[in-house]
Amino acid sequence: MEEKRKVIDCRWFPSANKCTLAISGREEEVIKTAVDHAVKMHGEKDTPELRNELRHLLKEAKD
Ligand SMILES: [Zn+2]
Repeated sequence: MEEKRKVIDCRWFPSANKCTLAISGREEEVIKTAVDHAVKMHGEKDTPELRNELRHLLKEAKD
């Protein structure tokens, strides 16, 4: 069975100034990439809290 893709979108973060990046894929892929992106582009720290927050914001992708 194919795993549903999840999506996360920087536009959901008020703090992510004008960033319109969306990441979709399997949950672990999205979290990993989103953490990387948040650290590099948004000056976030890679903490369990950040990962938790991202995990809660994931939505089912439409395809
Ligand atoms: Zn971003």
